[in-house]
Amino acid sequence: MANTWIIDLRHYLTPDGAIADFAGRARAEFFASIVVDATTANTDDALSVQCRRRPRHQRCAGIIVSYLCADKDESIRWYCPVCDDDGSISGWQNTRWDRLAARLGVVARFHRRPCSKSRQDFCSD
Ligand SMILES: [Zn+2]
Repeated sequence: MANTWIIDLRHYLTPDGAIADFAGRARAEFFASIVVDATTANTDDALSVQCRRRPRHQRCAGIIVSYLCADKDESIRWYCPVCDDDGSISGWQNTRWDRLAARLGVVARFHRRPCSKSRQDFCSD
């Protein structure tokens, strides 16, 4: 059975914005790679994020398909076309994997969007 991962990337990060060192770190890095892939405008620069699942102990050959969703959280939806693993990532904005922020300018995004408490702490420097 495929999983559906609904996560908030901020939950995996330390206060300085790095991925926290914990048992699920490899999975968190996988989600971060998807954020890079989905927020990179030029598809030549986008990453090819390989599926992490190992059905029957064989690594899935799927390359993750990801895209920005126009819902209120601007979540990133992704799925594996081979094994149907899928998920949704929120809280990716202005993390170090957010290529949209690099392009648009972080300041512009902050004036446009209300900040949660955690996001203000995260961005205070
Ligand atoms: Zn897969």
